[in-house]
Amino acid sequence: MTATLIDGKAFAARVRAKVADHVTRLREEHGLIPGLAVVLVGEDPASQVYVRSKGKQTVETGMASFEHKLDADTSEAELLALIAKLNADTKIHGILVQLPLPSHLNSDLVINAIDPAKDVDGFHISNVGLLGTGQKSMVPCTPLGCLMMLRDHHGSLSGMNAVVVGRSNIVGKPMAQLLLGESCTVTIAHSRTRDLAEVCRRADILVTAVGRPEMIPGDWVKPGATVIDVGINRVEGEGGKTRLVGDVQFDSCAAVAGAITPVPGGVGPMTIACLLANTVTACCRANGLAEPEGLTA
Ligand code: NDP
Repeated sequence: MTATLIDGKAFAARVRAKVADHVTRLREEHGLIPGLAVVLVGEDPASQVYVRSKGKQTVETGMASFEHKLDADTSEAELLALIAKLNADTKIHGILVQLPLPSHLNSDLVINAIDPAKDVDGFHISNVGLLGTGQKSMVPCTPLGCLMMLRDHHGSLSGMNAVVVGRSNIVGKPMAQLLLGESCTVTIAHSRTRDLAEVCRRADILVTAVGRPEMIPGDWVKPGATVIDVGINRVEGEGGKTRLVGDVQFDSCAAVAGAITPVPGGVGPMTIACLLANTVTACCRANGLAEPEGLTA
């Protein structure tokens, strides 16, 4: 391996420490405790793990965590009534509705019912519009985490060729917007892109958010490029055990890239750290206070 390993786990620990410092200051100087409400509908096992982890880290950084677990057959009206209550609650600065929702619920409608100022996932249509027009918004956590690591590694990203593989609303599109905001020349690739290999080879920064195990080999990577692997894919490993891999073939890509994030231990830990950062940011904005430096886009 010749690439520098971008250690998302260690980076996330530093972000959490900054968040905890800021939370202490908010409490001591302003009597404020940032509060995050997480709403889980149903019993999706992966969602339960994420929600537990979010709650635990929220409390560890000194913030207040409010968990709302609703039955899988909860009606849209009941869920919207809960969101309205959370919107009005001054103890709560961030609201997250864990996705995916059961299929009888309209995710867009539910997300757009959240007060945009409390939309710490950054998925509300107002925040999407603000980000797209370069205005102050709540930035989706996973792309924000990727951006923080890129800025830390490179300093300025201005003028670099960035290729984002994947065009989802939660990762690919906001990632591309953020990179454009850093003055990168941005290409968004997807399942219909012609000659993806050639497109990827142009990238100084290659961000992969596809969800296909190890689909990108080392010879798609430009020598010296920075590879940010967002993909989390569970595959069968030795002895029938499952293991997690990214969208890129780690060994062959690490042999050519200048820097690379591992899976696990790369983008994943940064996502929750950025959720905590967004909650502190929302609390500061709600109270007209200075936002924590280095924790926003
Ligand atoms: P989506 O399924 O919503 O989007 C996948 C994107 O990949 C689509 O735009 C799709 O193109 C594109 N794609 C699919 N197949 C190909 C292909 N063969 N060539 C090129 N592009 C392709 O996924 P998400 O954005 O939600 O997530 C992507 C990955 O990131 C998943 O592995 C997910 O688990 C992971 N993830 C990780 C997070 C973290 O914290 N680390 C957070 C969120 C997601 P098209 O639009 O044309 O269909």
